[in-house]
Amino acid sequence: MEKRAEKRRIVLVPVSAQGHVTPFMQLGKALQLKGFSITVVQSQSKQISSSSSQHFPGFHFVTLPESLPLSEAKRLGSVKFLMKLNETSEASFKDCISQLLLQQGNDIACIIYDKLMYFSEAAAKEFKIPSVIFSTTCATNHVCCSVLSKLNADKFLIDMEDPEMQEKVVEDLYPLRYKNLPTSGFGPLEPLFESCKEIVYKRTASAVIINTASCLESSSLSWLQQELNIPVYPLGPLHITASSPGPSLLEEDKSYIEWLNKQKPRSVIYISLGSKAHMEAKEMLEMAWGLLNSNQPFLWVIRPGSIAGSEWIESLPVEVSKMISERGCIVKWAPQIEVLGHHAVGGFWSHCGWNSTLESIVEGVPMICRPFQGEQKLNAMYVESLWRIGIQLEGEVERKGVERAVKRLILDEEGEGMRERALDLKEKVKASVKSGGSSYDALGELVKFLNTE
Ligand code: UDP
Repeated sequence: MEKRAEKRRIVLVPVSAQGHVTPFMQLGKALQLKGFSITVVQSQSKQISSSSSQHFPGFHFVTLPESLPLSEAKRLGSVKFLMKLNETSEASFKDCISQLLLQQGNDIACIIYDKLMYFSEAAAKEFKIPSVIFSTTCATNHVCCSVLSKLNADKFLIDMEDPEMQEKVVEDLYPLRYKNLPTSGFGPLEPLFESCKEIVYKRTASAVIINTASCLESSSLSWLQQELNIPVYPLGPLHITASSPGPSLLEEDKSYIEWLNKQKPRSVIYISLGSKAHMEAKEMLEMAWGLLNSNQPFLWVIRPGSIAGSEWIESLPVEVSKMISERGCIVKWAPQIEVLGHHAVGGFWSHCGWNSTLESIVEGVPMICRPFQGEQKLNAMYVESLWRIGIQLEGEVERKGVERAVKRLILDEEGEGMRERALDLKEKVKASVKSGGSSYDALGELVKFLNTE
C-alpha cells in the first residue's frame, strides 16, 4: 500500500483519570517521536494541568463539553455511568472531530481511544477514519473482559458456589482461575458482562494497543491475537518506550527527597494506593502501627480526601503522628517513578494498579500487594503467583499482619528471593523496549500500520 505524507495527526481519547491519562500521554509521546502530530481530547472537568502539559510540547489539546457530570458516577455506579457516558458523548465527539477535520485539512491518520470510551467509534465510522483501541490495563484483563462477556450472570453465580469451578483454570491461561475473574467492585454482574461485550465484541477498530510487554503476559497476548483476529500491539511499559513519566493530575510534593536521601540502601518501604482508592481511618491507623512496629523506615503517600471522614491525616492520634515523623515521611503525592528508582527504596506497598505494577517491575522493586477491586486483584495475583516478586496482604488490615509483611519483604531471605526475581524481570522488560525487543518491534509495526491504513 502507498505510504502517505509524514506528520499525520493522531487523535487520542483517554479516560480522564490518572491511571488512563498517563499511558495515553506516553503513547502520544512515542508516536510523536515517530513523526505523528498529537491531539488529546480531554474532558472539561478533569484536565491535564498546564504545568504537566508543558512536558508534552507540540501536543494539541481540545476539550469535550461535559456530557455527564462525574458526580453521576456515585449515583449510577461505575458500569452504568460508563454506558451512559458513551451514549451521551457520541454527538459532541462527532462535532469535535468534524471541527478538527476542518482545521487540520482532513489529515487525521487514526483515532486511538481508551477501550472504555467506545463512543469514539461512531465518529471514526462517519468520517471514515481508522480507529484503534488502547487498553491501559494488562492484557490478561482484556482476556477476562472477553471471557466475562460470554457468560450468563445467573449461571455464573451458581457455578461459582462450586469450589472446583472456582479453581478451574480459564482458557488454559494458568495461573488465571475462574475465581480470579475481575468481577468485584463493579456492582451487579449482568450490566458488567454486557459492558464487557460492548468493549470487546461490538467494536470495529482495526487494532488493539496494550501497555504491556510480551515477556510479562505472552499467553494472554497470543490468546487475544487469535480471539480478536486483528493486530494486537504490546508496546509497554510505555513510560520507558516514551522515556516519559507522564503528566500528573495532582501537584507533586518533593519534600520527601531530603528524608529519602538519608536512608540506608533498600531499607525503605514506599506506600501508595494510586489515584482513586479510599480507606477507613481504622485501617490507616492499623497500617501506621504495623509500619512503626516493623522498625523499617517508610515513605507513605496519602492523598487528601482518601481517608473516610478526614481532609487528610488529622484523624491519626498525636502520639502516632509524632512517631511517624521520627521514622517515616508522609506526602500528599510523589513523583512515583523517581521514588521507585531511588536506591533507598526496598519495597513497594501498592494497590496494584497496572501502571504502578509496571513501574515497580521496571525498577526491580518487590511488592506488598493490597488490591482494592477487580483488575487490581488480578495484577496482585500475577505479582505473587506468576512472577513471584511480591506477597499479597489478604483479609482485614491489622498491625501484626502489616509488620510481618514488611519484615518478610525487606529483611527475610524470602524477600531477597523476590528482589532477585524482580531484578531479573526488570532486565527482561527493559530489553523488550530496546532495538530488537518485542515492544520495540510492535511500535515499529504499529507505525507502519498507521501509515498504510
Ligand atoms: N502516582 C504518582 N504519584 C503518587 C501516586 C501515584 O505519580 O503519589 C502515579 C503512578 O506513578 C501511576 C499512577 O499514578 O502512574 C497510578 O496509576 P495506577 O494504574 O497504578 O492506579 P490508579 O490510580 O489508576 O488506581
